[in-house]
Amino acid sequence: MKIAPILIFLLLTAGCATSPTGRSQLMLISPEQAISSSRQAYIQTLQPLEQQGLVDADPAMTKRVKDITGRIIAQAIELYPDAKEWDWQIKVIDDPEMVNAWAMAGGKMAVYSGLIEQLRPTDDELAQVLAHEIGHAVANHTAERMSVALASQLGVLGLGLAVDSDYRGYALTGGALAATVAIGLPNSRTSEAEADQIGIELAARAGYNPYAAVTLWEKMAEVGGSSPVEFLSTHPSPGNRQKTLQRLAPHYMDEYEAPGERPRYAFAE
Ligand SMILES: [Zn+2]
Repeated sequence: MKIAPILIFLLLTAGCATSPTGRSQLMLISPEQAISSSRQAYIQTLQPLEQQGLVDADPAMTKRVKDITGRIIAQAIELYPDAKEWDWQIKVIDDPEMVNAWAMAGGKMAVYSGLIEQLRPTDDELAQVLAHEIGHAVANHTAERMSVALASQLGVLGLGLAVDSDYRGYALTGGALAATVAIGLPNSRTSEAEADQIGIELAARAGYNPYAAVTLWEKMAEVGGSSPVEFLSTHPSPGNRQKTLQRLAPHYMDEYEAPGERPRYAFAE
């Protein structure tokens, strides 16, 4: 198959979707395709670390992360029914230097021990990190970012067509693309704002104080100091992040203060 038919096919079938906050999203790659690629990418990313004993190495830290994440996922499933079908996972990667966390499509997530050890977040603050990542997942940001990456690759390929060259060898596809956009490349400020908004609500519904979203980002900036932490480079700050979160927080106090035990998602072993 030559490039031209692929390009034409993709342009003809180019989809748009609407994000949970009502924003229009480019979807050349469907959420289902992104989920399938991410399943593969997640295994490939974690396997070498697992072999070195660097995944879920600290049982107490792992339990804390899973307890908090499980409560937020239970709320995500309530609000975003598609997410009910996902095989959600969260792993703690042992790397004391790395202050970071990420989410691939379909709720495949990881947080680095460095984020917990260096930031020393309260449960409410850690919940905000995890809920922010879950926000990226339920808003299908991996599929959207794969689509944007693909569209720009097709732009390059389109130029290649003029000289009748085969540029396919340079195109990142499937799992490699899913991993690159989810772990390595910065999110857009728009998707950051969206993940913040979704995250603060999910965390509040799971019983975590919405004002912790404000103090979390303050701590993140403090720990960063002169050398920005990895989390801030892959999660760039949308303008007025703290102000926006400060403004959003009081709107979710009822959810936060609602009485009763919060349900928890049970992770597959
Ligand atoms: Zn983010």
